[in-house]
Amino acid sequence: MGTPIYLDNHATTALDPRVLDAMMPYLTTRFGNASSRHHAFGWEAEKAVEEARRKIAGLIGAAPNEIIFTSGATESDNLALKGVAEMYSGRGDHLITAATEHRAILDTCRKLEKRGCRVTYLPVDREGLIDLDQLRAAITGQTILVSIMYANNEIGVVQPVAEIGRICRERGVLFHSDAVQAVGKLPVNVESDSIDLLSLSGHKIYGPKGVGALYVRRRNPRVQLAAQMDGGGHERGMRSGTLNVPGIVGLGEACDICRRDMAEESQRLARLRDRLRNWVETEVDEVYVNGSWQHRLPNNLNMSFAYVDSESLLMGMNDVALSTGSACTSATLEPSHVLKALGIGDDLAHGAVRFGLGRFNTEEEIDYVARRVVEVVRKLREISPLYELAKHRPA
Ligand SMILES: *Cc1c(COP(=O)(O)O)cnc(C)c1O
Repeated sequence: MGTPIYLDNHATTALDPRVLDAMMPYLTTRFGNASSRHHAFGWEAEKAVEEARRKIAGLIGAAPNEIIFTSGATESDNLALKGVAEMYSGRGDHLITAATEHRAILDTCRKLEKRGCRVTYLPVDREGLIDLDQLRAAITGQTILVSIMYANNEIGVVQPVAEIGRICRERGVLFHSDAVQAVGKLPVNVESDSIDLLSLSGHKIYGPKGVGALYVRRRNPRVQLAAQMDGGGHERGMRSGTLNVPGIVGLGEACDICRRDMAEESQRLARLRDRLRNWVETEVDEVYVNGSWQHRLPNNLNMSFAYVDSESLLMGMNDVALSTGSACTSATLEPSHVLKALGIGDDLAHGAVRFGLGRFNTEEEIDYVARRVVEVVRKLREISPLYELAKHRPA
């Protein structure tokens, strides 16, 4: 077993060697432009892109011509929200999202508000779940889009997506889901979930960075988007720019591996994740799991350690790659907006650690991490006056 151990798979994942093998020809000899119509270099690149489109569509129950390639999920989220807001501005100006969304959604919504849209940010309960009655009540005649993430990147909480989709369908409102963390881990299906637009990303599913996709429904209903990138009219005019052929081939292969191995892999990771939780809870007191346990990704564990500052905890175990809160906000000292939205107090929010398990983690690694967490938490509490006070205070 080598260190450091990587346990930050919600931030990014290692490239699967099988994905690299699939990409290699397109990084070397098969360098053609997929739009080149007049020679074999172009044809083989286009063929590879269309094969990847089929694999990606196959993982989420879509048709290949409903997949638009992007530079990643941040771009997919931007294109979905801005593209719908612009295209359907004649129909309405209201969007609905949730307080626990990724910043790619929240910052895009802020931008749309500056442009005159109105946005409702649904709160979540203590478990991190939105309330379906609040969603129903928030939809008005002016609502054009609901955007709710499939699974959260910090606490792994899985929203009731199929019910949300059904409500949106009934009310004639488009439904977008940022499914970056769910695709490849859960059986995401745009038909049974009634999803009209869906964002996914290569580097969260053992594919390359800098490539992603947006699913855009073509029938029942046909979704139209205002392009946010003008140019050669690639991707049915929705996203111009020469296609990232090696990246797209990698994304396709990554999706195909997930389709084949997802059920078994998710079961294995859930078992390791449960082992980690049980080990830590047996050995240290005042540990709290953040977010619903029942409605959760198989590879996520987010726990708060009372009387412990998570920055100190991570510093004390620099042989393990972990995250406090979300990777995007951990540069600041503000507790994460997700934990805040759950109503978790500042003290516990500052003691939160995210464990993101992945394909290449072994049981030996998980046991090592469990031992290290217990060791460092105990050490930090030994020098914590507050913990001493709490433990030795007469009842
Ligand atoms: C990582 C992530 C994104 C951003 O994806 P990129 O491909 O890195 O731009 C968006 N949403 C969620 C939920 C994520 O986890």
